[in-house]
Amino acid sequence: MLLAKSMESFHGLEEAKKYDHTVLGVKQELIIQHEWSPGSCFFLPHGAHIYNKLMDLIRNQYWNRGYQEVITPNVFNMDLWAQAKSNKEDMFVLQIDKQEFGLKPMNCPGHCLVFKHKVRSYRELPIRFADFGVLHSNEASGALSGLTHARRFQKDDAHIFCRESQIKDEVKKALNFIDDVYQIFGFTYELKLSTRPAKCLVDIEKWEMAENALREALDEFGKPWQVNKDDGAFYGPKIDIGVYDSLNRKFQCGTLQLDFLLPNRFKLEFSTEDEAKIERPVMIHRSILGSVESMFAILLEHYKGKWPFWLSPRQAIVCPVSEKSHAYAMQVRDQIHLAGYQVDAITTDMKIQKKAQEAQLAQYNYILVVGEEEANTGQVSVQVRDKADHSVMSINNLLEHFREEVAAFH
Ligand SMILES: [Zn+2]
Repeated sequence: MLLAKSMESFHGLEEAKKYDHTVLGVKQELIIQHEWSPGSCFFLPHGAHIYNKLMDLIRNQYWNRGYQEVITPNVFNMDLWAQAKSNKEDMFVLQIDKQEFGLKPMNCPGHCLVFKHKVRSYRELPIRFADFGVLHSNEASGALSGLTHARRFQKDDAHIFCRESQIKDEVKKALNFIDDVYQIFGFTYELKLSTRPAKCLVDIEKWEMAENALREALDEFGKPWQVNKDDGAFYGPKIDIGVYDSLNRKFQCGTLQLDFLLPNRFKLEFSTEDEAKIERPVMIHRSILGSVESMFAILLEHYKGKWPFWLSPRQAIVCPVSEKSHAYAMQVRDQIHLAGYQVDAITTDMKIQKKAQEAQLAQYNYILVVGEEEANTGQVSVQVRDKADHSVMSINNLLEHFREEVAAFH
């Protein structure tokens, strides 16, 4: 049994090594790194395509879910970080006009300033600010590792400012959002509620009210959940979302964290129904992908380099049977490109078998073979990745099929 188990974990390790994102990412020409910017990755055109698709996936949801996107500065006077009590050691610090400024490692304090720039009323709440801003964390060189421990990253970050009575609903909505996105990726996940730690700066009644709201939200959400005893942050309870990938490895990607302290530190308030009374909002830190860089790495390994069609940087490739069909191949490529898909064509002097083999190795989702017959009839011979059979289709039918395939994921 033990032997079987250790063999299994050895196999798992070998599998994981084979699909290591730092190797596969370079092989697929998605990312590179350079010694002149350690910890900050370059995304090549195909990598940037995936990165943007991931952000689009989240951004496209924001309208219907009531999020408003904001754009906030990268560089802040250290006074802001002092007020937020952020750790200076985690930050890149710059001298500007004899004053110290820090590159933001998080969006939270900036969003407090956005909340505070005008008088707020209870009628506006909940306010959900989303931000894809670039973040920097001053990680030690020794801690850097590919995209998972990077110095430069972006998050699908959001901060929800709400009343205490709105916590349950907001958390439930966030859980539904997380569930919708993780289902698209084919992740399974587990939920844990972290309760009050020994060292805590939130008074007990407030904490219990919030924890109960999270418990009710989890119950109404309806998926199984567990308690992670005493593991809450000193500024509020949280729900940990542990994601399992196709290699059964566990990752922490998203965040669902209540915060009572930052609204205190920034003296945030809103007017209530009773004009003489003001209240302090609760802040919920929320992300689903987490760092887009990390999610990129997790997905590359999770899919083992075989990107699903909607996310794929290589959706189709046109392979002409011989030089006689080059012109038609380019025409097909252009038509698919103009319809908005990632498509290439091989027009080098290679045998068709070799072209198809190269296309398969590059993990194109669709290989489109065109010869004289296809050119005469305005069709393509379609081979789907990892499937042996071919079918002949008109370009219009193929584009319709592409549209359906993308729509199935959104
Ligand atoms: Zn935050």
